[in-house]
Amino acid sequence: MSDNQLRIVWVYPDLLSTYGDQGNVLVVERRARQRGLDVARLDVRSDQPIPTSGDIYLIGGGEDRPQRLAAERLLRDGHLFQAVNNGAIVFAVCAGYQILGHEFVNDVGQRQPGLGLLDVTTVRGEGERCVGDVLADIDPRLGLPALTGFENHQGVTHLGPTARPFARVQLGKGNGTGDGTEGAYNDTVFGTYMHGPVLARNPLIADLLLKLALDVNALPPTDDRWYEALRNERISAAQQPA
Ligand code: GLN
Repeated sequence: MSDNQLRIVWVYPDLLSTYGDQGNVLVVERRARQRGLDVARLDVRSDQPIPTSGDIYLIGGGEDRPQRLAAERLLRDGHLFQAVNNGAIVFAVCAGYQILGHEFVNDVGQRQPGLGLLDVTTVRGEGERCVGDVLADIDPRLGLPALTGFENHQGVTHLGPTARPFARVQLGKGNGTGDGTEGAYNDTVFGTYMHGPVLARNPLIADLLLKLALDVNALPPTDDRWYEALRNERISAAQQPA
């Protein structure tokens, strides 16, 4: 973090913001301000260069065609690599997650290169689309409570040896490979299929991103009663028989 200001970058809201994932930016921003941090939020449209000076980059989900355009532009832009090399944190959802991988199958059925920031590859699932509430256990190394989210994707994501599964599903499909994994991460780069928005349902993930950005082990506590109510409601919804 430079100048004592936390810079949150919301990547391509014009292409990757169809599923309410913008809520993730609001949650990170609010929780940072609650801790007294000076926060700058930068919304970067797909016709603008990605800044390299961000601390936390958030990327949302999107439909297949905008996903193709977003991947092309991010790859051409190249600045997200630079930011990650400088130690930036990236948290990406669904289409954004797929774009972080080596490749995915796009809207015209072609294998398209992603950014290769995560050791994952996405193919088009042959079965039904994965849709519904998910309940999962986050990798215990991250010390976080259960993950609640909503998934809606056709893509099936396979993890390579250097990506760790972000979570293991109790209910729902996650990466869709049948091995129970959901999402992937590697140092400071995180991908998940969870919408919700996922950081509104799991505010301690937002705090993890803040702790990584600030390089601290703990943050002052916040009043999380509203978040808890939302979490409990969505967790019981996931547990209802379909
Ligand atoms: N188009 C991608 C898929 O269906 C991602 C969808 C999304 O972001 N919700 O797999």
